[in-house]
Amino acid sequence: MSTPSAEVVFGGTFDPVHEGHLTITRALVCQLGVLVRMLPAYLPGHRGACDVSPEHRLAMLELATKDMSHVVIDRFEYEAGRSVPTIEVLQHLRQARSPRTPIFFVLGEDALADLPNWVDSEHLLGLAHFLVVPRAGLSGQAGGSVARYPQLQKIEDNMIPSGGIYRLEFDAIDVSATRVRAQLSNHEPVRDLPFEVQAYISQHKLYQGDEAGRP
Ligand code: ATP
Repeated sequence: MSTPSAEVVFGGTFDPVHEGHLTITRALVCQLGVLVRMLPAYLPGHRGACDVSPEHRLAMLELATKDMSHVVIDRFEYEAGRSVPTIEVLQHLRQARSPRTPIFFVLGEDALADLPNWVDSEHLLGLAHFLVVPRAGLSGQAGGSVARYPQLQKIEDNMIPSGGIYRLEFDAIDVSATRVRAQLSNHEPVRDLPFEVQAYISQHKLYQGDEAGRP
């Protein structure tokens, strides 16, 4: 019996979506040949309220991915209209798929370091694999942690559905949404935004406030 095709979930606040996110997504599609399910958070789970509405963040994500044929945007949190813990997202996905479907939850190494603070984090690996991506510019405990995990080069036919931690090998871009928001707020040039997103931000005058760079 062959393994049902894998689900690859890439969640984030995408406030705003930037080239760091898109580079990861392209690497997932090109290297693994998978469909990537991008899952925008309705509200930021780990920091204060976003300055920009959930609808604006979603619109920017839609613009940035509109020509990416192997990307779907999963509006699960938007339909719920609330912040949904990752454990709940994965439970929902697991119920909707065959128990044999491998599910990969993609996260940056900074997010991996923060995992103990997530709701029911000890149960996440029971539902999915983690696929960790390196993050440029990290130091200390959060940085350099990815190398210890085996590289995921292809999704094997007999792959188990969950429980592993893998890394994706690719050249990470040193960009964060926090830095992008701060640059926009200070009216500095921003390099790492897709053109359509930059245009949308200008059109709607987003991230102009003093609070825009707040971590
Ligand atoms: P913020 O600075 O507001 O925290 P962010 O740039 O980290 O935002 P998120 O939307 O929070 O963006 O990130 C979603 C996921 O993408 C997280 O797992 C994060 O670690 C990862 N990620 C974001 N940017 C990069 C990057 N440049 N390289 C590698 N991983 C990244």
